[in-house]
Amino acid sequence: MDLLSVTSEIYPLIKTGGLADVAGALPAALGAHHVAVKTLVPGYPQVMSQLRDTQVVIEYEDLFDGSARILAGRAAGLDLFVIDAPHLYNREGGPYGGASGDYADNWKRYAGLSFVAAELSRGKAQGYEPDVMQAHDWQSALAPAYVAYGGGRRKAKTVMTIHNLAFQGQFGRDIFWKLQLPPEAFSMSGVEYYGGVGFLKAGIQTADAVTTVSPTYAAEIRTREFGMGLDGLLNVRSDRLHGILNGIDTDAWDPGTDPFLHANYRLSTIKQREENKLALETRFGLNRDDGPLFGLVSRLTWQKGIDILSSCIDPLVNAGGRLVVLGSGDDTLESAMASAAWRHPGRVGFERSYDEPLSHLIQGGVDAILVPSRFEPCGLTQLFGLRYGAVPVVSRVGGLADTVIDANLAAVEAGVATGVQFSPVSQHALLGAINRTIALYRDERVWSRMRRNGMKFDVGWHASAAKYVKLFRELLGQATEDDDSDS
Ligand code: ADP
Repeated sequence: MDLLSVTSEIYPLIKTGGLADVAGALPAALGAHHVAVKTLVPGYPQVMSQLRDTQVVIEYEDLFDGSARILAGRAAGLDLFVIDAPHLYNREGGPYGGASGDYADNWKRYAGLSFVAAELSRGKAQGYEPDVMQAHDWQSALAPAYVAYGGGRRKAKTVMTIHNLAFQGQFGRDIFWKLQLPPEAFSMSGVEYYGGVGFLKAGIQTADAVTTVSPTYAAEIRTREFGMGLDGLLNVRSDRLHGILNGIDTDAWDPGTDPFLHANYRLSTIKQREENKLALETRFGLNRDDGPLFGLVSRLTWQKGIDILSSCIDPLVNAGGRLVVLGSGDDTLESAMASAAWRHPGRVGFERSYDEPLSHLIQGGVDAILVPSRFEPCGLTQLFGLRYGAVPVVSRVGGLADTVIDANLAAVEAGVATGVQFSPVSQHALLGAINRTIALYRDERVWSRMRRNGMKFDVGWHASAAKYVKLFRELLGQATEDDDSDS
């Protein structure tokens, strides 16, 4: 089976969040199930500079106001199609914006990505015609619409994968006539959304199947509270909506071999983990003591509950905890973290940056990793935490609810707990979770059992990749009775 994956970021070439991790890990995960994945990405400078063995497969004189070439090639072990269109993607800033905010022409940049995806799906590049096209998030979400309204013979089935419903790609109606879609596409059953154009809405509406990245989030987004205005449509399409949990790349994230750690370790050599904690304490200028070291690696935004965490830092420190924070984002939240570090020298450290190596060291060194999100489609940092022996302390939402077993009395008694969950997402509940974590930490037997359970928990892709394959086969009418098993 051939799959065309369409994404606006992919690890290790370009990453702003979990989407890149997933897009980068899926090709190998699906490859193990005999699905050949090629990924279409924009030709950002970070992609162009790493691309090798290139071959031009399509040329456009005019792709959204400039000439473009579609290159087939390889980079970092990935099979890629890359849109070499300097007028759209050759920018100095990040993939979505620069110092002065989001690029004003993002609609055009990602309509271009979606348009090319549909052309590739239709066999426009000689010798390549995928069976399935998977569009990730709003940036690729017009692709299923371009396929649906493209007319003619159609082989590829389309899958819209939602990594975060909060980012929808909504634009004014004035862009519609530039999208090269037929007039009838501007309707409730097409790309129209509250009088404008909704990219993600269009993808959800027109794809053959819709997936999101955890079973709990798949249920949550059908409610008003989490549906971000799309719950009505998601309910209409509920028979085609599937929650498939993300995994992590267990090679890139392996404490036994991770080059970013000061000391590698496994369950059997867990004592060596202590060296990473020491390295973190030195780096952040923290006092050494016998209390637990908490960590946070996150975008600093409202979604991630950082304001709530901020209100819990003084009591966390007073209860004997210490905290290291790595992240950047909203100005006020960055200031709140900087202020906490200033108030608690030796107890709280903050690094305002995006730093992949440091994110690994934090997972490999802290005792507990905090994920107090208001909503969390899947979440990856709790999965890294489980694998690295950093006990996750998480809000009970989305993928966090699906991947962490709370250390309630019954779970501790049964010896199955892997972390701490709290609900609702409030200061009171988070404080309760922090205090519970500190108490659990002080019980060495219980704590080491929790950590061991977490490190043994299967956070890899195998089971979820099998679920994707099963879905693809169903869409292609290839399902057999044997497919009831997940592999
Ligand atoms: P989201 O995609 O909503 O930001 P996820 O938990 O799904 O959240 O994925 C976040 C990814 O980004 C993880 O790989 C995490 O380690 C990484 N990350 C977040 N902030 C930073 C940072 N400041 N430095 C390094 N990595 C970060």
